[in-house]
Amino acid sequence: MARIVMKFGGTSVADLNRIHNVARHVKREVDAGHEVAVVVSAMSGKTNELVGWVENMPKVAGSNAPFYDAREYDAVVASGEQVTSGLLAIALQSMGINARSWQGWQLPIKTDNAHGAARILDIDGADIIRRMGEGQVAVVAGFQGLGPDNRMATLGRGGSDTSAVAIAAAVKADRCDIYTDVDGVYTTDPRIEPKARRLKKIAFEEMLEMASLGAKVLQVRSVELAMVHKVRTFVRSSFEDPDAPGMGDLLNPPGTLICDEDEIVEQEVVTGIAYAKDEAQISLRRLADRPGVSAAIFGPLAEAHINVDMIVQNISEDGSKTDMTFTVPSGDVNKALKVLSDNKEKIGYDVVQSESGLVKVSVIGIGMRSHAGVAASAFRALADKGINIKAITTSEIKISILIDGPYAELAVRTLHSAYGLDKS
Ligand code: ADP
Ligand code: ASP
Ligand code: MG
Repeated sequence: MARIVMKFGGTSVADLNRIHNVARHVKREVDAGHEVAVVVSAMSGKTNELVGWVENMPKVAGSNAPFYDAREYDAVVASGEQVTSGLLAIALQSMGINARSWQGWQLPIKTDNAHGAARILDIDGADIIRRMGEGQVAVVAGFQGLGPDNRMATLGRGGSDTSAVAIAAAVKADRCDIYTDVDGVYTTDPRIEPKARRLKKIAFEEMLEMASLGAKVLQVRSVELAMVHKVRTFVRSSFEDPDAPGMGDLLNPPGTLICDEDEIVEQEVVTGIAYAKDEAQISLRRLADRPGVSAAIFGPLAEAHINVDMIVQNISEDGSKTDMTFTVPSGDVNKALKVLSDNKEKIGYDVVQSESGLVKVSVIGIGMRSHAGVAASAFRALADKGINIKAITTSEIKISILIDGPYAELAVRTLHSAYGLDKS
């Protein structure tokens, strides 16, 4: 007997038939004698609709900024998961399974106060474990918890993955299965590159990079938690027949295992390609080249909660003036430009230029640590396709390249093939 946490994403619970199908997946594990807890997302498209309602409330005359209180945003957007948790509990009960829905505040899943992007601080697993022992299946609404202000808090988009891994850690589950609309983690988004290959295993560090660099198959925070708490996490499909051979395999279920790098026997140099759309580039021209100038730029941007990513500073020729380029999410560009203009005197630059709609394509692989020339092959492959590189950043296990938006798909496919990742 094992203890398993099963998470089902938006497309997996998109309508009543799919919820029924999900219930069959749960029944398979319950019938096998396992202790099971389930985490669900909202029906696909629901969270977008709820966010749209909050953001499109008619504005006060004269203002063009969307106005909403983040606590009320959370009250609205958390409702999608409430509906699916109740519906799945009903579907399970109709199959004779003892199931009960739980909202984040009822368990409770305690979070910090960052409404809209809260972090889970603590889950007391004892009650779920006790109920599991009595044969009850807890169907937990993902994406939500209870803030210190005693109000509902949501975990940021894609946050149900994080709810699932956090619950798996809290109840010391043997496995956390993330069921979605693809049958595992691929070498790149299979919707962009049909030649992408499914990975049998991927190391936590690589998955962390893939997720933070744009592969939305898992929320970044869920991978961090899985890594820290050593949760055996599988990404697998809810669309397969729940009773097909092998679906109930305890040690090797079909899908991709996220695990320690020591568990991966044949480590490739490059494991995958990720991309992130909607990046914007801001350049400050003829900036004074003196100590403190970076702090004067990035301090106020950080205070305004603007996430700065790639930073490139030129070496000045005469030691007096330089240029600084950095990227921010496209949605933050106007806010960033306002912060820069408010601080123009303190920073001391001549002009500021910006460009939105760019894309960051990244090459990821632990094997890069011990191989030279990996970056050079990316540059060559992109050059051969006439794709211009606007900025580059590297770390031990990744190379990120900023390019013009329209070249995103071509660049992903080009790099995928350049590193031999295409399936034969
Ligand atoms: P869910 O609603 O189940 O949480 P998501 O839409 O959040 O599902 O994540 C699954 C999607 O992630 C897939 O449909 C796929 O298009 C996308 N994706 C991006 N990169 C990858 C990758 N490397 N491997 C698998 N899927 C990926
Ligand atoms: N429903 C939420 C979202 O769409 C959370 C999730 O699906 O993981 O972001
Ligand atoms: Mg998701």
